Amino acid sequence: MAECGLPERVVLHVRPSRRKGEHDRCGRCGRRSPGYDGGRRREWRSVDCGLTQMWLAADAPRVRCAEHGVTVARVPWARHGAGHTLVFDAQVAWLAVRTSKSTVRELLRIAWKTVGSVIDRVWADISAEIDLLDGVRKIGIDEVSYKKNHRYLTIVVDHDTGRVIWAAPGLGAATLSTFFDELGPERTAALTHVSADAAHWIASTVTQRAPQAILCADPFHIVAWAIFTRMAFGFHTPQALIALVMLNLGGPTLTLPGRT
Ligand SMILES: [Zn+2]
Repeated sequence: MAECGLPERVVLHVRPSRRKGEHDRCGRCGRRSPGYDGGRRREWRSVDCGLTQMWLAADAPRVRCAEHGVTVARVPWARHGAGHTLVFDAQVAWLAVRTSKSTVRELLRIAWKTVGSVIDRVWADISAEIDLLDGVRKIGIDEVSYKKNHRYLTIVVDHDTGRVIWAAPGLGAATLSTFFDELGPERTAALTHVSADAAHWIASTVTQRAPQAILCADPFHIVAWAIFTRMAFGFHTPQALIALVMLNLGGPTLTLPGRT
């Protein structure tokens, strides 16, 4: 029992509604699939009620998806493979963008590496719904270091909107080529200006992939980069840092659960 007499943890036992057709769907793709077995009981952390941690518990049956094989069935309250509810994930992402590292950790009572995992999956869902590469004409390319042992991200901004539109671990021609692969030939042909620092690999890749674009030796720098690298310390993957950058600078509007 907590000091104030309230329980430290409450577990709500739930199950997906059968009426809404939310059962027997593949956890990865959502396709209706034949049942495989009853799986095991699982728990998901949800948002606190005051000082009490709220958890959902449910049987997690498995289905046999035609594409993904035997997999845990989708539940409507959480992302596949996550140990937290959608509502909890949304709260973590909202706080991670607006407050400090210690605030998120202490208020929500979670490890920072968990915050990294949460924002990674939140950004994965958001980025699947939007296309930040559409309509770009003037872009800036930069490489930024995020660890003392020379780990880098390659970052691309849209100069017209000021948004970060793409980021990937690594630097060099091979990494930058994946950006142009994702941009595709039509949108690459529409680029008019590319700004970058003097890195040879940027100039050679741009000349090869977007020869019509005017290459400007005018690097941009993300002013708040030191803040991001400090916040990312403790994340286990570069994808979590990318998610942090994109949630802050990629332009999505994050809302708290229940608010619009
Ligand atoms: Zn599937």
